[in-house]
Amino acid sequence: MQIAPNSVAEIDYTLTGDDGQVLDSTEGRESLAYLHGAGTIIPGLENALSGKQAGDEIRITLQPEDGYGVRDESLLQSVPAEQFAEVDDLQIGMRFRVQMKEGPMVFTVMKIADNQVTVDGNHPLAGKTLHFDVKVQDVRDATAEEIAHGHVHGPGGRAH
Ligand code: ZN
Repeated sequence: MQIAPNSVAEIDYTLTGDDGQVLDSTEGRESLAYLHGAGTIIPGLENALSGKQAGDEIRITLQPEDGYGVRDESLLQSVPAEQFAEVDDLQIGMRFRVQMKEGPMVFTVMKIADNQVTVDGNHPLAGKTLHFDVKVQDVRDATAEEIAHGHVHGPGGRAH
C-alpha cells in the first residue's frame, strides 16, 4: 500500500548537511514510525514520502524553509549568568526549555563569558540545507486510536 493520510509509515533515514556531516540517523536505532498527514515530521519530508511504498528509497534535498526554518538572529541573546544560578556546572551545548508567551522554546547555551551567557533559541538545524536518504520499511493503516491521538503507538511510536 502507498503512504497516504491516516497511514503509518516506518522509515529508516540518514540526514546529512551540505558538508556531508551526518546530523541524524536511524542507523543502529529503531526505525521511525510516523502517522502520515499529521504534521509530526517536517513538511518537506512528509510531502516527498506521499505515495511511496515499502521498499522505496528516496533522496531529497530540502532548503531551510522546507526544513527547520531559516535562522532568526533575534533569538540569539545574551542573558546575565545569574539567571542560571540553579544550574550546576553550566556548559556550552546545554539545552533548556523555557516557557515563553508564544509557547515553550528550547534555548542552547552557545557561549559563557564575563558573567553573560549567550543562548540561541533557533532549532539546531535551522538555516541548514538538509539531505535525506530515506528507505520505506513498512506501510500500514493507522488504527482509529492513532488517528484520534495524532501519533503512532507501538514499535517506533509512543508507548503510553
Ligand atoms: Zn496516543
